[in-house]
Order: sequence, then structure tokens, then C-alpha cells
Amino acid sequence: MYDSLVRFVRDQYRTQEFIPLHAPVFAGHEQRYVGETIASTFVSSVGAFVDRFEHDMQVFTGSPRAVATVNGTAALHIALLLAGVRAGDLVITQSLTFVATCNAIAYCGAEPVFVDVDRETLGLSPSALERWLDSEAMMGEDGVCRLRKDGRVLRACLPMHTFGHPVALKELLVVCERWQLALVEDAAESLGSTYQGQHTGTFGLIGTLSFNGNKIITTGGGGMVLTNDALGTRAKHLTTTAKQPHAYEYVHDEVGYNYRLPNLNAALGCAQLEQLDGFLAAKRQLAMNYKEALQSSDLTFVTEPADCRSNYWLNAVICQDLAQRDALLKATNERGVMTRPIWALMNRLPAYQHCLRGDLSNAEWLEARVVNLPSSVPPQEVK
Ligand SMILES: *Cc1c(COP(=O)(O)O)cnc(C)c1O
Repeated sequence: MYDSLVRFVRDQYRTQEFIPLHAPVFAGHEQRYVGETIASTFVSSVGAFVDRFEHDMQVFTGSPRAVATVNGTAALHIALLLAGVRAGDLVITQSLTFVATCNAIAYCGAEPVFVDVDRETLGLSPSALERWLDSEAMMGEDGVCRLRKDGRVLRACLPMHTFGHPVALKELLVVCERWQLALVEDAAESLGSTYQGQHTGTFGLIGTLSFNGNKIITTGGGGMVLTNDALGTRAKHLTTTAKQPHAYEYVHDEVGYNYRLPNLNAALGCAQLEQLDGFLAAKRQLAMNYKEALQSSDLTFVTEPADCRSNYWLNAVICQDLAQRDALLKATNERGVMTRPIWALMNRLPAYQHCLRGDLSNAEWLEARVVNLPSSVPPQEVK
């Protein structure tokens, strides 16, 4: 079984060398645009490629505003601040996520609360969220959602679109509306994924993207805040040291952050974004090939949820049990085909093990079974 999977992956990438989980592809204007920034000397915090990258991303996602940041974690930090998250607040999220989701909450002085995921989406479960709120939360007379036992404020809900598969956004929005929670989407992994035809990261108050080296497109390091006009203006201000526009004076009207994306990185992003439609098509084809190849095996290939179009950023299978997961990881990695288990649950990490949590049965079930398969855009047929 594992031999045929290894052969299949080697066939897709047409190589006998080591195959990584996800490598970037630079097949467009990357050299040219990056070269232009160097020639212009505008490599840093000011430059035309930042404006162009934000504009192009705004058009691509259909978001009213897009504000570039130095990485996806910084984008999440700013998003949570703009959603009103303050020290001592609680933010509901999933325990099955990458650690950046929780770290951004901690940067605000707030704490995550872990609620279960759905097995179909691998993301935050609207019914688990509702159940947890019904049993633990109350609506204050001031219209603020609080923890029943000690009155701490539940400010926001932060779902994550795991491996590019959209969570059940409409259902989550209903629950968040009922409990007056700001919905912030961690769309770091889901650039190009849509839910009922609309881009992920544009449903809540704010959404964030990442352009780290392993994401579907990369700027080296980078991120983006997707939001409305008013919050977009605030995001720009906060990420650029809260400096008031002036020809020469230094006036900073609050504690700001140096979270802007350098022009050098934005140049790479513009070149990558030009290729995104091609990447999406190639990754969809790869996913369909995996699905077909695994049809007769006892591994379940994870496919996009109903009503959604996933970017298939990272392909994943669900194993029968932990033993099979470990055997698969060992057999593939030993043969030079990189595979990885899904993240350890956030409630197991020293920084977050004391946090409040609901029942996490689905997250635990998936944690013991999910394995990611190589997912880079395969080399194109030489014509
Ligand atoms: C990649 C990623 C981020 C942001 O990561 P950066 O490396 O800071 O760009 C945030 N959340 C999730 C789920 C991610 O996968």
C-alpha cells in the first residue's frame, strides 16, 4: 500500500529525489519585480509594490480593503486588536490549529477558549460553539457576552480554515450574532478558497492571510488584513507606527506597530499573485489525482466541504487509527517522501494547557489520524 502511494507521489513530481511537503514555485516575474525594487532603492517600508499588492489582493478576494503586514501572525494580532480584544478577554477558537492562532490571542493579553471542530471541515464546529456558549456564557445587560462563572468578557470568535477547507461560515455567523461575538477568520491557509462563491476571510468583521514560504503563494514572509473601509484605515495606521501623515514631523498618536510589509517582499507577492489561478488549478488537479489513487485504499482523502471550493493548499488523509498513521508517516518519510501529522492540539502546549475548553472529541480523533501528503504545485508538462 505505502509503496504504491510513494510511487504515485514520485510520478506526480517526476523525481526520485526528496519530495518536500510544500515548496514554493517561482515561475513568473519574481526576479524582475524584486530586481526593480533593488534598482529603485525602495526596498523597505515605502514603495509602489506594496500598494499594488494590496490592490491586487483586494480585487482577488473581493474584500473592501486589504492591508499588507510583515507576516500572518502580525495580521492576526492587529485583527484581534481591531475587533476590540483587550487584556483579560477571552477569544473562542479551535484547539486543532497552528500555534500562531493562539499566539496572536496571547499578544493581546487575552486567552483562548478551545471548542471542538467538525470532522467534515476540520474547522470550528458551529454546534459545538453553540453548546459551549449555552452552558458557560451569559449575555449581560450591556450586550456583552460573559463567562457565567466569573464575568470575564468573551469578545471574539476565531475560526481557522484548516488546510484551505472553509469552515461552516453561515452557521458560525448566526451563533456569533446571537452572542455578540466579533467573527475574525484566520484565513492564513485558505487564499483562493471560497464558501458559497465568496472568498474566505471576507465573511467576518476581519480576516487575515499569510504569505509565509510554505503557503499557496509566498512573499518570503508576509500577511494581509482583509476588512471594511473604516477598519482598513485603522489597520494601516496601527501597522505603520501610528504615524500621522505629515511632510516631515514625527507625530504618532497612539502605540503603533512596525508591522508593514517591506516593498521587497511585496514585489515577490505581486509576481506570485499573477500565478495564483494557475497554482489553484494545478493543486485541484493534484488533489483529484490523490483522491482517485486512494479510492481503493483504507485511507480517507479529505475533500472540500459542500458549497465550498477549497484551494487544496495541503492535501490530507484520515487514517483508520493511530497505528496506521504512524506506519504511514514512517514508510513515506523513510522513502524520501515527506509527510507530516496534523498539529498537536493547542491545549497540550505548555502556554495554553490551562485554558478553558469544551469537549474536544473530534479534534482528538483527528489529531490521532490526519496526515498531510506532498502538496507543492507539480512541475508543468514541458511543451
Ligand atoms: C501560516 C499560518 C499563520 C500565520 O503564519 P505566519 O508565519 O506568521 O505568516 C496563522 N495561522 C495559521 C493557521 C497558519 O497556518
